[in-house]
Amino acid sequence: MKKIEHIGIAVQNLDLAITTYEMLLNTPCYKTEIVESEQVNTAFFKVGESKIELLESLTTDGVIAKFIAKKGEGLHHVAFEVTDIEKEMERLRQAGFVLINEVPKVGADNKLVCFLHPKSTNGVLIELCEEIKS
Ligand code: ZN
Repeated sequence: MKKIEHIGIAVQNLDLAITTYEMLLNTPCYKTEIVESEQVNTAFFKVGESKIELLESLTTDGVIAKFIAKKGEGLHHVAFEVTDIEKEMERLRQAGFVLINEVPKVGADNKLVCFLHPKSTNGVLIELCEEIKS
């Protein structure tokens, strides 16, 4: 895996969280994007080579809403950039990791993504992401 592409943080209110993270990181949010498939609204910040992704649920029963109801706001996932997501998924499947997505899906920020279940990664939701080449 190449680097930590971004860290995902589940938030209750995206607008308030954007203000907080703009102050914290001293850099403006460069993009907000709704991901229909996940029912989330996202906001991105660049921090050196990595990014911070804030995630707000668009529905009361979406994955982020459920996460916050159970654990509260906070660290949601760590995303690693890979060059060949299919190959990496196969490698991890062979190694016994539990993949949440059988095939890569289109995520936020022009990426193909796949999630690994936290039960096989010591409690951390892991995202693999590969930039979609246009
Ligand atoms: Zn992510």
